[in-house]
This record gives sequence, C-alpha cells and structure tokens, in this order.
Amino acid sequence: MSKIVFFCIPAHGHTNPTLSVVHELIQRGHAVWYYSYTPFREKIERLGATFIACDDYDTEQKLTPKDAARIGKDLALSTRVLVDTTLALDDMVCQTMQELKPDCIVADSMAVWGKAIALKLGIPFVSSTTTFAFNQHSAKIMRQSIPQMLGMILSMPRINQNLKRLQDKGYPVRNILDILQNDNQTNTIVYTSPAFQPCAETFSDRYNFVGPSVRPVTEEIVKTREKLIYISMGTVVNNSLRFYRKCILAFADIEYQVILSVGNSIAVKDLGAIPDNITVKNFVDQIAVLHKADVFLSHCGMNSVNESLYYQVPLVMYPQTTEQAGVAARVAQLGAGIYLKKSTPHSIRTAVEQVLHTPSYRENAIAISEGFQQCSGAKGAAEQIIAQCKEQ
Ligand code: UDP
Repeated sequence: MSKIVFFCIPAHGHTNPTLSVVHELIQRGHAVWYYSYTPFREKIERLGATFIACDDYDTEQKLTPKDAARIGKDLALSTRVLVDTTLALDDMVCQTMQELKPDCIVADSMAVWGKAIALKLGIPFVSSTTTFAFNQHSAKIMRQSIPQMLGMILSMPRINQNLKRLQDKGYPVRNILDILQNDNQTNTIVYTSPAFQPCAETFSDRYNFVGPSVRPVTEEIVKTREKLIYISMGTVVNNSLRFYRKCILAFADIEYQVILSVGNSIAVKDLGAIPDNITVKNFVDQIAVLHKADVFLSHCGMNSVNESLYYQVPLVMYPQTTEQAGVAARVAQLGAGIYLKKSTPHSIRTAVEQVLHTPSYRENAIAISEGFQQCSGAKGAAEQIIAQCKEQ
C-alpha cells in the first residue's frame, strides 16, 4: 500500500477531475490524504480519503474584492499570494509530511505549495493539470496582452523578493517558472486528450493526457423543438444581465427551443417577459441539457467546453477571460465552433444559425469526442501515480 497526498485549490473545476483518480487509488488499496477546503470536505471524505483543511492558511480568500479580481492577471500579486500561502502552510504541512512519510505528492498546477513542499522535502511529485498543459509552444495559444507583459516585466523585482522568502525557508526554487511551469521531467497528468491539447507533440512522455472527467447523463430533459440552443456563461463571471437580454431578443418566438442558464447572481424576473420557446433558469443540469443540445453558446470555461465536446455539441464562443480565450482559440483551430464577434441580438442569432447549418462544426466536435473517449481516464492517472510511488 502506498501513501499518497493530494493538494488542490478551492475550485470545483480543479477538484472534480481528481476525485475519480482518488477513488481509483483507494479501490486499489492505497491510502490518500487530501489538503483542500471545507466546501469540498464531504466529497473527499465520501471516497474514503483523509481530508485536511487549508482554509485558515489561504491568503487568496482574505484578499479585498479589488485584489481578488487582479489574481491571475497581475503576476507580482499572484506570486505574493502563492508565496504567502506556501509559507503559511509550511510548518503544519512539513510536520505532517515528516510523520506520514508519503510515497508521492499530487498537486494541482495552481496549488503550487504542493509542488514547493515536494521539492523541499524530496518527495516524488506528480502535477495535476485541469487546463491545457503549458510550455512555450502552447503558451502562444494563451496569448498574453501587451499591458500584462509590461506589468510582468515591471513587477520582476517584487517577484524576486517573494521568491527569496521561499529560498530562506529551504525551498529550492531558482525562479518563478520552477513553481509555475512543469518541465519535461515532471510527471504531469493532463485532463484532456492529446488531440485537444495544443502542441501535444512538444511535451515529453512524462505528460499523460488522460482525457476529461465528464460525468454521465443522469437526468433526461424533454426536447420540445427540432433544435435546442443552450446558453451559459458558467458559474464565476456570469453577471451579464444585458447579454442575457440580447439572447432573449435574438431568439424570441422563433422555431428553436432555447435553454438559458443565468447563474445565481441574477434574478430571472429582471429579464422581463420570457417567450414560450425560451426557458431561463439560475442553474441547470448541464450534462442533461448538452445530451440533447444542438449548439452551446458558452463562455468557454474548460469544463463547459470539455462537456460540450464530449457530448458532441459544437460551440458559439464568447470568452470573458484569458484562460477562456485560450480554450476558445483551440476549439476554433479544430473547427468545432466559431466566435461570437459582437454581442448584438443579430450577431448572436447569425452565429448560432451558422453553427446549426454547417455540418463540419458538429463533425469536428464528434472527432474530438471520440479522441476523449479513447483516453485512459482515471485508471491511467492512478497508474502514473502508483508508478511514481514504486520508483522510490
Ligand atoms: N454548470 C452546471 N449548470 C449550470 C451552469 C454550469 O452544471 O447551469 C456546471 C458545468 O457543467 C461545468 C461548471 O458548472 O461543469 C462550469 O465550469 P466551467 O469551467 O465551464 O466554468 P466556470 O464556472 O469555472 O467559469
């Protein structure tokens, strides 16, 4: 039996794919400890893993809303938050690790404290990546804007000061890339297929593209018209009342069925009268809807795109963040969707019609779906982790 320790950030999209891997490891007789956050406790303990709470150590949770919005865009601030969290966790985690003597640490690519602690204590390490794997080739698809690049150059002294704080505590990090990026020697689980990963051929065989973890259909919805259009901006940046109103105008009283998920920060009544062919909800069973949908107008969160393509639904893409733009760019490259260029009712309707009436978008979505289904999934991920444990 091996002892395996997981670290993750407090996000469903990053935690969910790891849960089937934890399940697989426990089924095979291994013991799992999981550093996470209280909202995820029940999901983790249900699998038979030992949950350890990081809530009190997490710096990001304590940021002002203004700073929180800059995370991910401002590298100096992001580095400071990562270093603060790593140092806050340092005593508690190092002590537990020294008593536990784990055979392997598995950390989400954004829970960089997991990687930092593995480096510091010399414990075998596997990275878990729920977005695309990142190197100088795939980075081109996640294009950074010029102001972001300038911000990064200007903030280098502050980044270096923070790295020094880690070095002073015994962490062998030479530069920011040591913790933010995996090199070709790092065992890395990537929850997508080699065909969907940009520039997959530029990664070493330590990268294991195990495919997305998409749950099966558990609920049937009724399709009332020949074509079903599904619209959602996800669960985070989804407070877009004006955009939803335009969608309603675009599809009011036409021959298609429309399901619009507006998220929990919008009151459905604020959208005014809803035509009969349109259903508006704060939250839907997205898998059930995608199972029947013909096109998905999406913000292009990695999970939504994985789910859409898995169920062979082409996309109209309206990304709101740099990460979503990267995912959208890949879908466009592979011909499984098109961008929404303007958010007017006319362009929304035109883009959706174009996807509905051009068979190649669906054909390309089907090809990606088939690639997903050929991947090794949670079993392949578990085997990679176990192989690392044995290398000790
Ligand atoms: N989701 C859902 N119902 C909704 C809206 C979203 O079940 O009405 C789920 C969706 O299936 C996906 C997740 O919420 O698994 C959204 O994740 P994604 O990475 O696409 O976007 P985020 O919410 O992180 O921006």
